[in-house]
Amino acid sequence: MRAVRTHGTAPELDLRRELHRRGLRYRVNHRAIESSRGRADIAFTRAKVAIFVDGCFWHGCPQHATTPASNTDWWVAKIRENQERDQRATGALAAEGWRVVRVWEHDDPVVTANMIERLVRSDHR
Ligand SMILES: [Zn+2]
Repeated sequence: MRAVRTHGTAPELDLRRELHRRGLRYRVNHRAIESSRGRADIAFTRAKVAIFVDGCFWHGCPQHATTPASNTDWWVAKIRENQERDQRATGALAAEGWRVVRVWEHDDPVVTANMIERLVRSDHR
């Protein structure tokens, strides 16, 4: 099994490529706040926008989540734990003034990039 937090997965790379193509520059695997929870997959430090690309299995995507047939209880608990950790990370970043965007690995990178670009370019601070 892969590690819970994998970086540079194919969906994340697709999204990064799409953002880069638009002239947006960002940091990867950036520790946005002084907490291990605050590590964003993609971060726009000036606009304070943090992006997480969540894997459908590990983060319990409502469309694609599957539960392994063996050790079912353990997996259900594990994935719930991940979701709770995601929520805490989002809350911790928001408390420091970051706008947090969580996308699923199944999301269309172009649609996602549109949304992120609007957010990053609308500097309403
Ligand atoms: Zn999904």
